[in-house]
Amino acid sequence: MSDCLFCKMVSGEIQPDTVYENDEVLAFRDINAQAPTHVLVIPKRHIATINDLNDDDAGLVGKLYLAAKQVAKQDGIADNGFRTVMNCNAGAGQTVFHIHLHVLGGRNMQWPPG
Ligand code: AMP
Ligand code: ZN
Repeated sequence: MSDCLFCKMVSGEIQPDTVYENDEVLAFRDINAQAPTHVLVIPKRHIATINDLNDDDAGLVGKLYLAAKQVAKQDGIADNGFRTVMNCNAGAGQTVFHIHLHVLGGRNMQWPPG
């Protein structure tokens, strides 16, 4: 997807503040951090929303969570706790239409989220 911001990060056209990467997943710091740790974990393959996932993507989604676990460990927030969020479509606040798992931590989290 040539017009997708996060695909441009995967291709290297835009260079994010990368904290973790493997063959299928890229993780980088959110440019507008909402917590001391705010990392976005994305699949390298373009998938617009959760609604676009299919059965073949189940393993890939699992790898997003395994990357989130690794990021939390690296940032020292794993034991105290962290939150993962994936917004789906505009009504839930999705603004970049390439799925991404928010990893938030380093402060106390409120529930329910706004
Ligand atoms: P969402 O609103 O769930 O789609 O999340 C999109 C996230 O992407 C927001 O938290 C933005 O702050 C973040 N974001 C937008 N542009 C960039 C960028 N160039 N680098 C890093 N994060 C970004
Ligand atoms: Zn994309």
